Amino acid sequence: MVELKTPAEIEAMRPAGRVVATALQAMRKHAAVGVSLAELDQVARDVLAEYGATSPFLGYQPSFAHSPFPGVICASVNDIALHGIPGPYRLADGDLLSLDFGATLGGWTGDSAISFTVGTPRHADLKLIETAERALAAGIAAAIPDGRLGDISAAIGAAARAGGYGLHTDFGGHGVGHTMHESPSVPNDGRAGRGLKLAEGLVIAIEPWFMAGGRDSYRIDDDGWTLRSGDGSRAAHVEHTVAITADGPQILTTL
Ligand code: MG
Ligand code: MG
Repeated sequence: MVELKTPAEIEAMRPAGRVVATALQAMRKHAAVGVSLAELDQVARDVLAEYGATSPFLGYQPSFAHSPFPGVICASVNDIALHGIPGPYRLADGDLLSLDFGATLGGWTGDSAISFTVGTPRHADLKLIETAERALAAGIAAAIPDGRLGDISAAIGAAARAGGYGLHTDFGGHGVGHTMHESPSVPNDGRAGRGLKLAEGLVIAIEPWFMAGGRDSYRIDDDGWTLRSGDGSRAAHVEHTVAITADGPQILTTL
């Protein structure tokens, strides 16, 4: 069932979104050559504690996973596109890092992701990240009342194809509310003018993830979580939680 939020409920979702943005900003500042992914997870845990928020990631076990997720962030390096486990790996010069983070505060959840390079960037990585960010912006721009869900999906898919990148419609966007993953699902490709009619009060996470190699396949490690590009090429993932309102799309996971 797709739940629509009142304007007051959308306002009530903002504090959780601000905690998400604050933690992502803190982790981005902390990330440097030699810093471990576990340290970044601790930075996010400290922000959660400071604001009295909880993690919708920690202990999360959807049907596809054989063990609960052990961190409060997903930290995905280079060919890892999604769901990287924040372990002992230390960032190296030129790494492409995607950080996905959620927080629950006051009964509402926010979900957002950023991608950036560490140390000396590769030109190809910057272009990949920039394209994912442009896809996210295009998806958000299509999140307006009386539009269709397919408008958002089509905008994301078009950006990926324009860049020659691989994309997959598994693990796309989703409704957000009291819990992290609600209806509807928001695939990263589709046909404009099709699908659910977008209405005021719909709150969704929009989250393009693209693979530089241009292939659309992925594989998952034995840990049941770590999702890598099928061809070993690098991947980028960006995400915002967005409310559809009469005044246009409102990004909730921002400062
Ligand atoms: Mg996320
Ligand atoms: Mg999400």
